Amino acid sequence: MLGDLSRTTTRPARAVHLLPYLVRCGVCDGPLSSQKVNRHGWTGQVYSCLRKRCAALKAEFLDEYVQRMMVVWLSRPKVYDFLTAASATDDEVAHARAEAQRLRGELEDWRKLGEEGEVTAIAYARAEKGLLAQIAEHEQRAAGAGSPAVLRGRIGDQAVQARQDLGDDIPVKREIIRLAADIKLLHAGFKGERRTFGRHRLDWRWKFGPQEQGPSELGPAGSPLDDAAA
Ligand SMILES: [Zn+2]
Repeated sequence: MLGDLSRTTTRPARAVHLLPYLVRCGVCDGPLSSQKVNRHGWTGQVYSCLRKRCAALKAEFLDEYVQRMMVVWLSRPKVYDFLTAASATDDEVAHARAEAQRLRGELEDWRKLGEEGEVTAIAYARAEKGLLAQIAEHEQRAAGAGSPAVLRGRIGDQAVQARQDLGDDIPVKREIIRLAADIKLLHAGFKGERRTFGRHRLDWRWKFGPQEQGPSELGPAGSPLDDAAA
C-alpha cells in the first residue's frame, strides 16, 4: 500500500482479498482478517481470526474452495429453480409494496378506533392478527424479489461462464457469497489429527434454497501445507 503513491487518498480502498469479514471464526464467531505472514521461509496471505487467532488458514486454499463451492451450487438446477420461482417482476414488487403500505394504514385506523373505544379489544386483536399476517406476506413478496439481482445471469447453465467473466471482480464476488452463504472456519484440531484442508474445516450454511452440500463433487482441495499460521 505504501508503495502505491498513484492511489488517491479520497478513493475508497479497493477490495483485494476475497473473504475478510465475510467468513467468520467457528470458535469465537469473530471476523476473519487477511494478513501477510512470513514463517519458516514461507511468505503468503493468511486468513485468521481477528479477535483471538483461534483459527487460521492459507488464503489461497479458502479462496479457491469457496469459489468452487459457489459455482457448483449456483450451477445446480434446484438452486436455479428456487431463485427463478422466487423472483417476481418489478410490477409484482411494486404491487406488493403498495399493498403492504395500504394494510399498514388499515391497521393504524383500527388502532385509533381501539384507542377511542370504538371497537372491543377482542375485535381489535383479531383484526390486528389478520392484518399483520397479510402485511408480512406482502413484504416477503416484495423483499424476495428484490434481493438476488446480483445473481441474475449467473445461475444455472450460466454459472460457470459468469464466474470466468467476473475474473477478479472481488466486490461482486463478495456480494454473491455474502448473499448466498454463511461460512465459518473451524479450528484445525489436534496436531496428530490434522488433515489436508477440506470440507471438515468449514461450517457452511446456504442462506436460501436447497441445503444439500456438494463436497464430493469438489474433489480434493488444499494440501498438507495447511495452517501456515495456526
Ligand atoms: Zn476466533
